[in-house]
Parts: sequence; structure tokens; C-alpha cells
Amino acid sequence: MRGLVVLAALVAAAAGAETFVGHQVLRVVPGSAAELRSLRELEELEHLQLDFWLPPRGPGAPVDVRVPFASLQPVKAHLEAGGVPYAVMIEDVQALVDGERRQTARRRLLPASTDAFDYASYHSLDEIYAFMDLLVAENPNLVSKLEIGRTTENRPIYVLKFSRGGANRPAVWIDTGIHSREWVTQASGVWFAKTIASEHENDEGLASVLAEMDIFLEIVTNPDGFVFTHTKNRMWRKTRSSRSGSLCVGVDPNRNWDAGFGGSGSSGNPCSETYRGPYAHSEPEVKAIVDFVKKHGNIKAFISIHSYSQLLLYPYGYTTTPVTDQEELHQVAERAVAALSSAYGTKYKYGSIITTIYQASGGTIDWTYNQGIKYSFTFELRDTGRYGFLLPASQIVPTAQETWLALRVIMLHARNHLY
Ligand SMILES: [Zn+2]
Repeated sequence: MRGLVVLAALVAAAAGAETFVGHQVLRVVPGSAAELRSLRELEELEHLQLDFWLPPRGPGAPVDVRVPFASLQPVKAHLEAGGVPYAVMIEDVQALVDGERRQTARRRLLPASTDAFDYASYHSLDEIYAFMDLLVAENPNLVSKLEIGRTTENRPIYVLKFSRGGANRPAVWIDTGIHSREWVTQASGVWFAKTIASEHENDEGLASVLAEMDIFLEIVTNPDGFVFTHTKNRMWRKTRSSRSGSLCVGVDPNRNWDAGFGGSGSSGNPCSETYRGPYAHSEPEVKAIVDFVKKHGNIKAFISIHSYSQLLLYPYGYTTTPVTDQEELHQVAERAVAALSSAYGTKYKYGSIITTIYQASGGTIDWTYNQGIKYSFTFELRDTGRYGFLLPASQIVPTAQETWLALRVIMLHARNHLY
């Protein structure tokens, strides 16, 4: 066993990839303000190199943290000294990464048609981009591909447009993968694209949406980060921009928007996972969407998809002031979550970002809402922490299917309430 662990580490190291041998993900549920403080102290200790999958929020809210092998002893001692109970959610992160890599290695490579595409596996950026081209070629009267910008590393940023015609129709926007390690989201985006293309005539509801609206779908919203998760570090979340004066790379693209930019729930430290960037819209991946949304001017629903936690959220994240449309958005979320649960019984919570998870400033949908896009929502897909960002590929299709039911509810509501 020990030999196998060493071998796995050597193989990964030879490929130049970060390994997570012996890393554990701990679940800590602080029961009091004092326990919460004890956890926040850990957050400050940079040398421990902790990766908070779910950061501390408040008493009673679970915190998931990936702890490198070398930090396990001090972290556990710190928690025990503070009387903070914890459980080991993932015994060995590298074992899950290896399992995922084995599964991914068995995937069907790009077939001649999107019917034969392997939707139940994770794919590389090149494979997803090739899938898009296939889908466009197969559905020239419905699907087109737009390049809306270039990343820091000069990769094209693509959006699929689904349209039955007409100029500048009201539109729905969906993006997946703005945080690159949330792999079930990009995989779901691929499944949504195929479903829109194959169901746009059979599904009456979808047909009625497309009769009046266009759908824009950005599957890989952070391409540089996504490539990095495949080649160097499976746990990469941010963009890949760098700045003088810091060795740390990347900006959190969900803290980089001009909505409460710089406020609480984002960091000014370039080494933080929630680093907001030097100024709003500094990241080309964010700027590309900002420019697109402004130029289009007629987007009615904007849905940004993350994982994990099983939540459906609406603005705001940066302020406790409720949005003007709170009541309507809450009702739409309630119906969307009910539709989602009808498939596999998956339980979701819903509400505004700040009341349901935590204060987060500079987030995507706060900006889109302030731009006048009333139906602005964020999903956090499966699961609730058993696998976290390392959701087994066997759950991709069920996750996409159930999420699609919720997306349909939101799109239909927007179509029935064009403003
Ligand atoms: Zn995310």
C-alpha cells in the first residue's frame, strides 16, 4: 500500500502535477462564536496552506477544509485545544483524484457525432471545444459559436448561441465553470448544450422559450484555470493572471465584478482563494462577459453555475438590503428547486446569497442584477460535501438532468414575464 502511494505520487510528480497524497478534507461545524473564532484563526495561518472548500460563515454552518498531510497534526491539535469537533470527510484526497483520473482515462474520445459523446465522463478543454464545433456543424440552423474574448493566456473564450432567428431577441444567459475546479458544472454545461439542441422541438416548454428568446451558454468560463486543473493542480479555482509584487497567481473571478467590489467577503491578498483582483473587471474572462452583456442589452435571465452545496441563490451577496424583486425571485427559486428535486429527490436550499451562505462582494449576479437583469440566479450543484469538488463522474448526468429541470422553470418564467 505504502509502495502504491509512493508510486502514485511519483507518477503524478513526473507529470509535473500537484499531488494531494495524505491530504484530508475535514468537516468542522462550529457550535458557538468562540469555536468560529478558533476556525478563523486557522484561516490566518498561511503556512498551513489550508484550502477552505466551504469557508467559515457562522455558528452551525459546516466548514470543509482540505488540510495538507504536513498540517494535519497542528490543525487537529488546534481544533481539539479549542474544543471544536470535526470529522474526516475525505480520508485521502489523492485517492479520489486518482480514481477520477482512471475514470477519465477510460472516456470515449471525441466521436464523429455528439450523439456518441461520452456525457458521463469529464473532458479536457480541447475535447469540450471540439464538442462545440460538432454541435454547431450538426445544428447549423440553431447553434452558433461566438468568441467573446481571450483569456490571460490568450485562449479563446467561446459562447454557444441557440437561436431560432430574429435580431437581438430577449435572451437567457447560462455560464458554467467560472471556478475551474468545479468540474461537474462544465460537464453539465456540455449536457445542457446537447439537450437544447436535441429537445428544442420535442420539449414544448423549451420550444416556447426559443420561440421568443435566444439562449447563450458559456461552458468553460475560466479556460486557463480549467486547463490548469487538468495539467497541474486539480484544485485550482481562480484565473491565471499574475501581478508584479506577488508570487501568487490568479484572481477569484466571482469577486471581480463591479458590485460592492472590494467589500467584505472578498480579499485584497493576492494569495487568497477569494482575491478580488486589483480593480473591478480586471480579469479578461470577466470583462468579456461584462462587454457582451452591455452590448447585447436585452438579457432577461442570467444564471451562473457553481458547485458544491446544493443551493439556488439570488442577489444580493454584498449587502443585506433585499433586492426589489425579492418576493418574485424567491417564488421562482422555490418552484425551480421543487422541479429539481422531482428527478432524484436531491434537496436544495434557496434564498439570497448573503442570507443563505455568506457575504460575498463583487459577485457575478449582483452585477447582472444591478444592470437590470431581474432573473439573476446562481446555482451550487451537488453534492453537500461527501465528494465536494471531486464528484464521481457517475453523477454528472443525473446532476445535469435535475439542474436542467430547474433551469427550465427559470427560463419559462422569464419568457412569460418579458419586461
Ligand atoms: Zn464556485
